[in-house]
Amino acid sequence: MPFCPECQSEYKSEVSTCTDCGVALVAELPVEGALDNEPSELLPMRNFANAAEASMVLGLLEENGIRAFLSGGGFTVAPSAFAGDIVLMVDERDMERATALHEAYFGEGSESADSPGDEAPTEPSA
Ligand SMILES: [Zn+2]
Repeated sequence: MPFCPECQSEYKSEVSTCTDCGVALVAELPVEGALDNEPSELLPMRNFANAAEASMVLGLLEENGIRAFLSGGGFTVAPSAFAGDIVLMVDERDMERATALHEAYFGEGSESADSPGDEAPTEPSA
């Protein structure tokens, strides 16, 4: 049975194009997570109060092939006193490595007390 890769509707075998989406049907729906070219989620890793530190950490991550970028700070037009807050965004697939690297290089007993939303706590003893 062909399926539409867009809306995942199932069609009769004589149908070759999705009537809703106009895309060619596929024999099987792609398995979730099997595609490596899927756009991935970017997660905030940590905040910085100054751009120099942010750039330093970003440079470290980029050197190690981690997909990361800085958000906020000078890039925003937020008219607040906290406009200097810079957020380091990291690809979710690289988050574990990024965190480990960050701790290895900049770790100052980083208990990260003020980082809620830590959904995947990493065990210190691997
Ligand atoms: Zn469709």
